[in-house]
Amino acid sequence: MADKNTAAVINTADYKGIWVFMEHAEGELRSVGFELLGQGRCIADQLGEELSAVIIGDHVAGLAKHAFASGADKVYLVEGHEYEHYTTDAYTIAFADLINTYKPSVVLIGATNDGRDLGPRVACRVGTGLTADCTNLAVDEQTGLIAWTRPALGGNILATIFCPNHRPQMGTIRPKVFKQPEQDLTRNGQIIRVQSKVNSADIRTKLVDVIKACTAAVNIEEADIIVSGGRGMCSTENFKLIEELARVLGGAVGASRAAVDAGWKPALHQVGQTGKTIGPKIYFACGISGAIQHVCGMSSSDIIIAINKDPDAPIFRVSDFGIVGDAMEVLPALIEEFKKIKEG
Ligand code: FAD
Repeated sequence: MADKNTAAVINTADYKGIWVFMEHAEGELRSVGFELLGQGRCIADQLGEELSAVIIGDHVAGLAKHAFASGADKVYLVEGHEYEHYTTDAYTIAFADLINTYKPSVVLIGATNDGRDLGPRVACRVGTGLTADCTNLAVDEQTGLIAWTRPALGGNILATIFCPNHRPQMGTIRPKVFKQPEQDLTRNGQIIRVQSKVNSADIRTKLVDVIKACTAAVNIEEADIIVSGGRGMCSTENFKLIEELARVLGGAVGASRAAVDAGWKPALHQVGQTGKTIGPKIYFACGISGAIQHVCGMSSSDIIIAINKDPDAPIFRVSDFGIVGDAMEVLPALIEEFKKIKEG
């Protein structure tokens, strides 16, 4: 957090505009940036301010049109070969310079690996605070401040945090908390090109190699279909039914914390408050009771299908379709039917 001296010189009225940091990989913007533009647009309209996207990279000007299509009024573009790959040093220097020059009021960054690295560094450089890993954000009607919400005290409470005296108000927000807005490709905006001020000597790390993880089965944040299993699956052996249904549907495998604690799946698969927040098109919850800490991680799924042998299980209250039955009987039947559909 900034010290008292910094607080004394800040005039919050000098800071205007909502900014979203747009991550990109392999020539494409990552979905969390679009999700934040959608929510950023709502906030900007409420506050009567502009929404801007920040794109830093090498030869990335072509990405600006997608930011405009998702609601941005402006794009701040920093290009240079030193930004080809994300590095903490180069991106921190560029982003902090942008903020010091253009003085946005609010900065939103995805709580991804890079975003969690970049956000606090930039906040520290520009002398403000940052609320990390938010699960919601909104405008406080009384003060016009951003109300940042995040789990606290080991996830047992949700804390709402304000940043009244420093600017910008900054936070990292979990992917999939907000839906992506509809793209309007007729929208346009202003590109503000900003010269890079980073020397290669400023960058203390060197990217040697990019090793792709075998994420197909693990990257539940990007998956359209997720089949999740809980304690009701009873064993590693039975959990194979979850994996088989996910494979047949071309989806990813999720797990409740109870299933992760039992060692049936690694923690990367955990859905929920202390796991991942996901928003697939279809979510299967098999042998999962529907505890609030699980539901808060998957409730924004478009369609939720629950399989549980207890007709009173709380999961059915948040489900679009419910199957009351033994998962060890229902899952093989579903797998067989979906296989038949797939084979035509
Ligand atoms: P259970 O609650 O034991 O439910 C098992 C369900 O399976 C039951 O509904 C039962 O009827 C059903 N069942 C049993 N046998 C069968 C069968 N043969 N066929 C069909 N159904 C069957 N949990 C998470 O998932 N994610 C989190 O991120 C998370 N974070 C937490 C953070 C904190 C601070 C705390 C305190 C808890 C957290 N939890 C989290 C744990 C959470 O409270 C629950 O304990 C957990 O979600 C329960 O997992 P479960 O539904 O698999 O197991």
